[in-house]
Amino acid sequence: MLIFRQLLDTQSSTYTYLLGDSVSREAVIIDPVFEQMRRDVALINELDLRLLWSLDTHVHADHITGAWLLKQELGNWIGLSASSGARGADRYLADGGRITFGQRWLEARATPGHTRGCITFVLDDTSMAFTGDSLLIRGSGRADFQEGDPRLLYSSIRTQIFTLPAECLLYPAHDYRGLTVTSVEEERRCNPRLGGDISEDDFVAYMQNMSLPHPKKMDIAVPANLKCGIPDGDPLRLSEPSWAPLTCTSTGVWEIDARMLNELLETVQLLDVREPDEFEGPLGHIRGAKLIPLGELSRRAGEVLNDRPVVAVCRAGARSAQAVLILQQAGINKVAKLAGGMLRWDAERLPVNPVILPEPCPAGKATPAVSV
Ligand code: FE
Repeated sequence: MLIFRQLLDTQSSTYTYLLGDSVSREAVIIDPVFEQMRRDVALINELDLRLLWSLDTHVHADHITGAWLLKQELGNWIGLSASSGARGADRYLADGGRITFGQRWLEARATPGHTRGCITFVLDDTSMAFTGDSLLIRGSGRADFQEGDPRLLYSSIRTQIFTLPAECLLYPAHDYRGLTVTSVEEERRCNPRLGGDISEDDFVAYMQNMSLPHPKKMDIAVPANLKCGIPDGDPLRLSEPSWAPLTCTSTGVWEIDARMLNELLETVQLLDVREPDEFEGPLGHIRGAKLIPLGELSRRAGEVLNDRPVVAVCRAGARSAQAVLILQQAGINKVAKLAGGMLRWDAERLPVNPVILPEPCPAGKATPAVSV
């Protein structure tokens, strides 16, 4: 079975696609965005996938690809068109090239015209294709820079995309109106630039009179993308918390493993956001934890000091995620939650307060105190 996720970067309206083989757990990602690396890595881990390939449909002008950054994190290979002019890829794809993940594969179809090195990736059973900026939903990519050529674009779409089965679903690299997917049949019939009876000359005339401004990030994005996403200088690097080994969830909240927290108890502030009866209840609480129930946290956030990192704790890890957001809004930057909450802490048999003494043995033998 295919595992499939469509992801959006709201800044650039870029769609990123994650495809995985459910048997081998091998996966590919198409058109990742630099700033979304943490989200993408978290999702890949949560879905228990192993990323083999980061693929780009072309050298983007409006955002920096996450290909290189993902490779630093996950060790995946990078693939893009042999005609892209980019350096640093592990594989340069020609028309007909295949990228395999588990039992599944993608075929690269050369669809130049938006840029010289544009590729459309077609899934093995032709049920899906990822068109990059060649074909957009009811539109097409521009063809007025990066060696764009409207005649070539028209031909690419007509011969490489519109020849796919009518029911093939098409996923573009962008949409600016919130549309997420279309089909070959839909675009053949309804695309206002090149569907129906629209000729190559009609399309070229349309494209030559668009007079669009250049993308804002073009001067930064194109040079970086010609190196598969290695940014120049430090400003674009993602800020990473260094106070503890943390994991980022796909919702963007950092969390710490119970055993790691147990080793760092002296260096962090623990904030327990459960109710008082839970704090003193059967699960107990971690030594030194300060109790502020979640419902009171917004009002009492000033009681949390900013001199040490804060770890929010709750029963199962849901309320503490909300607490992290509240604390961040209150200006506390070094903040994470305990992964899995007190349930995980208890499952790991880590020490808690209060220590509950067992009933005395009938024979009067002393037994050691146990934590529950
Ligand atoms: Fe583009």
